[in-house]
Amino acid sequence: MQTYYHSVTLDKEKCMGCTNCIKRCPTEAIRVRDGKAHIIAERCIDCGECIRVCPYHAKVAVTDPLTSINRFKYKIALPAPSLYGQFKKLASIEKVLQGLLALGFDYVFEVARGAEFATEFIKYRMKDQHLERPIISSACPAIVRLIQVRFPELIPNLIDVESPMEIAAQMAKNEFSKKYGVDKKDIGAFFITPCAAKMTSIRNPIGIYKSSVDGAISILDIYGPLSTVMGNGSLSNGQEFLQKATAVGVGWAKSGGEGRSLDIDNYLAVDGIINVIKVLEEIENGKLYDLDFFEGLACIGGCLGGPLVFENNFVAQNRLKKLIAKMEPHELISSDEIEQAINQCEWKWNKEILPKPVMKLDDDIFSAIKKMEELERIYADLPGLDCGSCGAHSCRTLAEDIVRGHASELDCIIKFREKVRILAQEMIELSDHIPTGKERKPNDKEEKDENKRNYQKYTR
Ligand code: SF4
Ligand code: SF4
Repeated sequence: MQTYYHSVTLDKEKCMGCTNCIKRCPTEAIRVRDGKAHIIAERCIDCGECIRVCPYHAKVAVTDPLTSINRFKYKIALPAPSLYGQFKKLASIEKVLQGLLALGFDYVFEVARGAEFATEFIKYRMKDQHLERPIISSACPAIVRLIQVRFPELIPNLIDVESPMEIAAQMAKNEFSKKYGVDKKDIGAFFITPCAAKMTSIRNPIGIYKSSVDGAISILDIYGPLSTVMGNGSLSNGQEFLQKATAVGVGWAKSGGEGRSLDIDNYLAVDGIINVIKVLEEIENGKLYDLDFFEGLACIGGCLGGPLVFENNFVAQNRLKKLIAKMEPHELISSDEIEQAINQCEWKWNKEILPKPVMKLDDDIFSAIKKMEELERIYADLPGLDCGSCGAHSCRTLAEDIVRGHASELDCIIKFREKVRILAQEMIELSDHIPTGKERKPNDKEEKDENKRNYQKYTR
């Protein structure tokens, strides 16, 4: 079986075992054992929360270096719209796009443009009344994976449209190969990413067999080199104007951008993984059946708050708002363009999304019930402080680990102390009965008296 690739990894050398990360992991995927963190791969959704909170920078997201673009004869940059919010006093988005050419890319295709096509495809799919309501956005790969792991019953609610990144990659390759008459296999498309989850979704595509994206470079890595080569955005003779996306697509970088683009009122947009979990619980319990669309993004503020961005999320939000306000009202996508996109790219999922219920205790229902009873018994016996000193997320997680055979009750520091105290008490009691050898030897008279007493005691 092919192993699942994760962008989020641990640098063991740097980990101090401080346990800060275990509390923030939304899928309880981290344990600290023997003084080091350990990520349970099947549970990790690459949300990057642990990267944000680790004070020792021991959690890292592995992305591709800028030099990796040289694997291809022709290189296309696919900038996420969140990249635009990173630069101070940015006069125009074109400046960023031209800067990417100066860095060595041959072409730039905005993912915001891909988002505009995704918008049209979602609108079209939402007309299908057979789709489970509320329809759930599939734009954030961390949320899709969260649904696979924690809310598998909601898989049918996921909208089966490819992400703006995938749509942009396909369109960019088609456009470039047609324009310059080159073979598509010589073209590499690289996403400029604000998050680790996107990197993971390139290696482990969701809803499709193979990603059209060939690599991901983090915004953090590209920010410095890009800042140094960015000119003023003015074009020399014959140079192509690259900015095609409108405010609709650029707005996808912020929470609510996708919902707004769909021209519907009955949608709910929620950001921050913990908030999203609370709403998914409501959907799972059937409380939001009258909602049309739910947009959930793992990061606070949306992609602008991704763990791999350079600028403070709120500062970047404000910058993007100003850029959007300045944008000319470009023409929206024409029906001809949509038809062309439908014919030229795979915009709909063609691979089933399978549940990954890693939280279940056993495949066999009867064993699972038995284990659950055992878990409840152990849990009731634990102190319930959720202190994290055992290296697990909570007392309940420790109870689960014990049932699974990965931990023992003595990993609980309070239980351990209690055990040591009982043992110490037993040892004290035992020691009272053991002669020390230091007792004073009785003199002749005392010995005679003791013998006499014993004689009388036993002959009475
Ligand atoms: S936050 Fe987690 S990864 Fe970072 S040092 Fe502490 S235990 Fe290790
Ligand atoms: S990336 Fe998210 S899911 Fe994975 S270990 Fe870190 S906090 Fe947990």
